[in-house]
Amino acid sequence: MDQPTFVIVGAGQAGARAAMELRRQHFEGRIVLIGDEPHMPYERPPLSKQVLWNPDECQPGILPRGFERETGIVLMSGVAVQALDLRRHALTLADGNQLVYDKLLLATGARARRLPLLDRLGAGVHTLRTLDEARALAASLRRARRVAIVGGGVIGLEVASSAVELGVEATVIEQADAVMARNAPAVLSRYLESVHRQRGVALLTGRRLVDARRDGDAFALILDDGTEVRAETVVYGVGAEPNVELARDAGLAVGNGIVVDANCRTSDADVFAAGDNTCQWDTWTARHVRRETWENANRQAETAVSAMLGHTPALGGVPWFWTDQYGMNIQFAGDMQAPTWVVRGTLDDPAFVLCGLQGETLTGAVTVNRGQDMRSLKDLIAMRAAVGPEVLTDSTQNLRALAKRLQETV
Ligand code: FAD
Ligand code: ADP
Repeated sequence: MDQPTFVIVGAGQAGARAAMELRRQHFEGRIVLIGDEPHMPYERPPLSKQVLWNPDECQPGILPRGFERETGIVLMSGVAVQALDLRRHALTLADGNQLVYDKLLLATGARARRLPLLDRLGAGVHTLRTLDEARALAASLRRARRVAIVGGGVIGLEVASSAVELGVEATVIEQADAVMARNAPAVLSRYLESVHRQRGVALLTGRRLVDARRDGDAFALILDDGTEVRAETVVYGVGAEPNVELARDAGLAVGNGIVVDANCRTSDADVFAAGDNTCQWDTWTARHVRRETWENANRQAETAVSAMLGHTPALGGVPWFWTDQYGMNIQFAGDMQAPTWVVRGTLDDPAFVLCGLQGETLTGAVTVNRGQDMRSLKDLIAMRAAVGPEVLTDSTQNLRALAKRLQETV
């Protein structure tokens, strides 16, 4: 019998990881990985960090050199998949070719949400999702004295930090009252605001962009309180939208992302989805969520591959992501909406931990320059350990020993 063909659409984090994982889990059939970008698959986290600092040296590739020869994975770069026919198990590519699959993984990721008010200004206005965009922004920052950043989420703050390191004056315009409000507790938002202001960033929260124009060599952004922000370079990071059109047009269930179960199965038995494009059933929170993190893309890639091969996927762990700003490494695990947050250590130290509690139970944690505590914190969160604020804020209590002790008792 012929070997089956598994096709992966989207050669980003989830797609590239899934292709390698298929071989790791001993799939011997044909693997075709199709991506519409002209590059080898690459990691996105360095785009707002190392690529901005060092565009010529940073090569954020995902797949090892020689992978095609060693794994037999067929990579088709610079080719968009335009249509999916579920009944015929067939894909139509932008070059008109058709490709038939036995099983399909949709790893189409997400794209930057657009602000037409800024897009119409043309060159000098940037978004940051792709390697090409990161290189264009890096070049633009090298020519600019000032940068205006619209959106104070993870991308906006990382760009502000990189701009400051490059000696560019940064203004951040955030419409909400706090930065990173979507995925950080209020105590961390306030901390980050003070760090950015100390580094000289003009941070304008609670302000909406109402107009924008080109004015000589610079741009002028007008805010709802009448403030005018001038800068030679503008970049905006106002969220991402999942790439779901292929799935939706084919008739798959789509909500805020392609709807998948905890094993990355879509509403069609032979089609799976992983990464930023999914709206996944999350066993941890018992609801559908869309996650836009590096770890989620990798984890869902592994889960999807197990399910595609008929293996039992590992249970999902505690969600985790990180951001790097001004040389600080900040990691997040679990629920950022926990009602109570306590500090382990002090915000005046370069390193501390924030613990999020639901009653006595640890449900979320943020480490600032204390990545070494993350594993124990994740274990405690996974156990839904009722440790209480007194224990967590007591720095003489060793978190690893505490997690081990509790693990032995459950
Ligand atoms: P993507 O990496 O976006 O890959 C999807 C690919 O599919 C893209 O190449 C896309 O062009 C392609 N595609 C889409 N449609 C088609 C089609 N029809 N045909 C062919 N190809 C198609 N996460 C963290 O946890 N920590 C960080 O510090 C961090 N920093 C980040 C910094 C930046 C600037 C960005 C943009 C993201 C960052 N992330 C970070 C998030 C993380 O990179 C993403 O969650 C991850 O890349 C998602 O992987 P993905 O494979 O789902 O999507
Ligand atoms: P990203 O990954 O692009 O950083 P986030 O969702 O983490 O996405 O953050 C986007 C931020 O942009 C949010 O804090 C949101 O309040 C802010 N935002 C969205 N639209 C606007 C706008 N028009 N002007 C200013 N800020 C905006």
